[in-house]
Amino acid sequence: MNQICLDCAMPMHGRQDKKFCSDQCRNTYNNRQNSDANNHIRNLNNILRRNRRILHLLSPGGKTNTVHRKKLEEKGFHFGYHTHTLTTRKGDTYKFCYDLGYLPVHDNFIMVVREKTQPQQEKTPPEFLST
Ligand SMILES: [Zn+2]
Repeated sequence: MNQICLDCAMPMHGRQDKKFCSDQCRNTYNNRQNSDANNHIRNLNNILRRNRRILHLLSPGGKTNTVHRKKLEEKGFHFGYHTHTLTTRKGDTYKFCYDLGYLPVHDNFIMVVREKTQPQQEKTPPEFLST
């Protein structure tokens, strides 16, 4: 049985392990794979940005605000997507989309918060100080 080219699907003769009939088909195929990966990343970024925008809408002026979960869902919030999490000493885990985050509090209510904007002081361990 002849192999077919992964890109143009033309039957190929010769070596059975060949995937493409030509360099051109290999390039076209690989470029498309890369752009699929880029699309995927772009879609994820869009979801994260939309989430952030929704959190922004629900916390006017960056103030902490408690809203019903439905408010976020209505606006198209994706609960599965966030950039990072932060667990407090109390053991609450906030989920953040960039600088804005949220914490489920009680009965389907969600507290929307802004992450403290002070950049975290990088502590230089003494052994890394030049002598
Ligand atoms: Zn081909």
